[in-house]
Amino acid sequence: NAKKNSFERFNYYRPYMEEETQHRLHMVRRLRADFAARKLEVWYQPQVDLSNGCIIGVESLLRWPQDDGSFISPAEFIPLAEYSGLIVDIGAWVIEEACQQIRRFDERGYGDIRIAVNVSVPQFRMRDFPELIEQQLKQHQVNPDRLELEITESIVMEDPDFVADILYRLKRQGIHVAIDDFGVGFSSLSYLQKLPLDRLKIDKTFVHHSDEESGRIIIETIVDMAHRLGLGVVAEGIEDEQQLNYFKQLNCAEAQGYYFARPMPADKLAKMLASEESDCVSLTRESQLN
Ligand code: C2E
Ligand code: MG
Ligand code: MG
Ligand code: MG
Repeated sequence: NAKKNSFERFNYYRPYMEEETQHRLHMVRRLRADFAARKLEVWYQPQVDLSNGCIIGVESLLRWPQDDGSFISPAEFIPLAEYSGLIVDIGAWVIEEACQQIRRFDERGYGDIRIAVNVSVPQFRMRDFPELIEQQLKQHQVNPDRLELEITESIVMEDPDFVADILYRLKRQGIHVAIDDFGVGFSSLSYLQKLPLDRLKIDKTFVHHSDEESGRIIIETIVDMAHRLGLGVVAEGIEDEQQLNYFKQLNCAEAQGYYFARPMPADKLAKMLASEESDCVSLTRESQLN
C-alpha cells in the first residue's frame, strides 16, 4: 500500500518537478553565462545616521539586468546561485567590487563610508573564507574596518561553533559583522552572547508593522536588547516619515530604506555624493534623491 501511494505521488508530482528542474537548470546556465560575461552589477543603497541624516555606509546589492531592460530580483537568483555553488565566485567578485568602491570613496574624500556585503552559507562553508577576504583587502589597500559582512540567522544556525570560529577570525582583522533580517530566522538568541557582532538589522517586515501595537512591541524589544548588549541597530526598509520619526524617537542609531534612497548603480551614487556640499552627505528627503 505504501509503495502504491509513493508511486502515485511520484507520478503526480513528476511532470511539475521536471518542469521546475528544467527551468532552474536553464536559469543557472544563463546566470553562469551572464556572470562570465560580466553582466551582473553591484548597486548600492545608503545607510544613514538618524541623528543627523549623514550617510555612514552603503549596502551592496546584486542586480541581474536582462536584455529587455528589466532585472531579475536577487530574491529569485541568489537561491539559484547558492544551490549551484556559483555564489562562491559571484560573492568573491562582489567583495572585490566593494573593495574597489571603498578605494573610490577614499579618493573622493569619503573616508568614513563603510560598505556592507551580504554573505551566503556556501561562502561561509568555504575553507579560508577569512583569508580570502584578508587578501582582497590587502590587494586593494582597504582598511578592514570599512567592510561589514551581513550574515543571516540561517548562517549562524548552520553550525554555530564553526561560524563563531570564522567570525572571530574576521573580527581580528577589524571587519564588522551585522546580523541581517534580524528576528525572522528560526534561531535561538543564545548566539548573540557567543558571537562577535557589531550590529543587528531589524527586518523590514517589522518596520512595516510599526503602525501596529504588536509590531512596536517587537521592534522596541529588539532595539532595547541591542542597546543593552552594546550592539548597533539598523532599521531596514524605512519608507515614510512616520516610520522615520518613530525610529528616531526610539534612539535607533541608523536606518536604510526607500525614504532615504533606493539601491542605485555606482555612478549614480557618486553623483549623489558629489552633489552634497555639507561636511557630511545628508539624506533627509526622498525628493533629493530620486
Ligand atoms: P537584504 O540583504 O535584506 O537587502 C535588503 C533588501 O531590501 C534589498 O532587496 C533592498 O532593495 C530592499 N529594500 C531596501 N529598502 C527598502 C524599503 O524601504 N522598502 C522595501 N520594500 N524594500 C527595501 P534586494 O536588493 O531585492 O535584495 C534582496 C536580497 O537578496 C537581499 O536582502 C539579500 O539577502 C540578497 N542579496 C542581494 N545581493 C546579494 C549579494 O551580493 N550576496 C548575497 N549572498 N545575497 C544578496
Ligand atoms: Mg543585507
Ligand atoms: Mg537578507
Ligand atoms: Mg535584510
